[in-house]
Amino acid sequence: MLGGPNGHFSKISLCVMGTDIQFADQKQEFNKRPTKIGRRSLSRSISQSSTDSYSSAASYTDSSDDETSPRDKQQKNSKGSSDFCVKNIKQAEFGRREIEIAEQEMPALMALRKRAQGEKPLAGAKIVGCTHITAQTAVLMETLGALGAQCRWAACNIYSTLNEVAAALAESGFPVFAWKGESEDDFWWCIDRCVNVEGWQPNMILDDGGDLTHWIYKKYPNMFKKIKGIVEESVTGVHRLYQLSKAGKLCVPAMNVNDSVTKQKFDNLYCCRESILDGLKRTTDMMFGGKQVVVCGYGEVGKGCCAALKAMGSIVYVTEIDPICALQACMDGFRLVKLNEVIRQVDIVITCTGNKNVVTREHLDRMKNSCIVCNMGHSNTEIDVASLRTPELTWERVRSQVDHVIWPDGKRIVLLAEGRLLNLSCSTVPTFVLSITATTQALALIELYNAPEGRYKQDVYLLPKKMDEYVASLHLPTFDAHLTELTDEQAKYLGLNKNGPFKPNYYRYCSTTSLFILP
Ligand code: NAD
Repeated sequence: MLGGPNGHFSKISLCVMGTDIQFADQKQEFNKRPTKIGRRSLSRSISQSSTDSYSSAASYTDSSDDETSPRDKQQKNSKGSSDFCVKNIKQAEFGRREIEIAEQEMPALMALRKRAQGEKPLAGAKIVGCTHITAQTAVLMETLGALGAQCRWAACNIYSTLNEVAAALAESGFPVFAWKGESEDDFWWCIDRCVNVEGWQPNMILDDGGDLTHWIYKKYPNMFKKIKGIVEESVTGVHRLYQLSKAGKLCVPAMNVNDSVTKQKFDNLYCCRESILDGLKRTTDMMFGGKQVVVCGYGEVGKGCCAALKAMGSIVYVTEIDPICALQACMDGFRLVKLNEVIRQVDIVITCTGNKNVVTREHLDRMKNSCIVCNMGHSNTEIDVASLRTPELTWERVRSQVDHVIWPDGKRIVLLAEGRLLNLSCSTVPTFVLSITATTQALALIELYNAPEGRYKQDVYLLPKKMDEYVASLHLPTFDAHLTELTDEQAKYLGLNKNGPFKPNYYRYCSTTSLFILP
């Protein structure tokens, strides 16, 4: 059953691929709250004294790190393996501490691991992954390992890798190819090193943004003969999958994790609500009260950003193309404008659309002096950064991830993370939120890997609703939340099974109301 009355998850089971996953006494397990406060504060203080601390909250990477490209280094882990490429394997110990801290906020994955001591639903799985390489991803990868999978991993973003975490993973035997500040060429080289290996061929893909999937399609299409499925996390990657499916070119089943309720309504929204201010603060030390901000896109990410900024007393404008999201913005109390109307007056421009060229060179030309420009969407195409690389403009790197772009008349704009997603490049993100997404990814992999022939065709699927509910239930005990159980009479009245699913697939867990803490 999926959660009982009064928070008693004493025996939860879920039928994934016909196998019951059961958790003994989960309440007890999940009620263990983080205890290693000392370590956390150590991590903070070290990172804050490091000259590179603006680039990543918990990064131990300091400026004394040599500038040699990891591709030119000969490194081995303590077991003698050199099947990895990270910035500096010697940072592994620091990375291990970050992973241990993350584990404390990822209750469901830790429970899956415990469960795996008896059963290995991913035995034989060879997963190639391309995601942000953070402590939270490391917890996911090590959980997949505990569930029986072999993994090879690259980063989906050239700035978001935590070098010490990548080192810790490499030290514990994961072939990881990633470092913070890869070039575009490095980026594809790393992906290729994950896929193009003698004697190892992936049978599952875990992607965030679709670049890995795209690379395999382009370079190694034959690999799809052995691949059982793709699990894709991002709006952008899912969009690419649907395009492939529409063109009849999708040759394996794919799971759209982005649109799982437990991903979209939590990760996109709460993750961004909790990290937008952090990313802006670390890079610029700015005050938010009274500042005029325009947020482009009022989807889940935009809603999170707007809520956080409004709560801090900023004056927030929204741009939208979709009348429904536009109406939501209006009814949530935001002025809906065209970017042109406010571009001269705003202090901050934030893109959250998943689209391209939302902020053009013309907009950039018209911004006022010191305007901060950043992106929270997946790809770096939302702001036309390429148009700023012209001879009349001067670029000044003022901090890690912070550039001043200066016009001939002296006007400067503050560009963060070169237009790549701000929070994952410049701030920390809340582990607990990512735990929900990571659990969804793990279950999607288990489901696709173990699905009997014919359950999934060459199409894009959503995770079954019951799994969404299961992922949520695994995270409730952290809050000492007490779920109400339907009575037999009520279940009959609503036409529901007492154990769920509790909502039809078309139900849209609205995320606008109750978001706002009014200033
Ligand atoms: P969404 O589809 O819910 O929202 C995007 C919104 O942008 C939509 O409402 C759309 O109508 C609007 N839009 C599109 N083009 C526009 C334009 N030219 N001008 C104004 N509005 C426009 O998607 P989402 O879940 O909010 O995700 C948005 C992006 O953020 C994606 O690229 C996604 O991958 C990424 N993302 C980032 C994080 C993060 O931590 N930074 C987390 C989740 C998702």
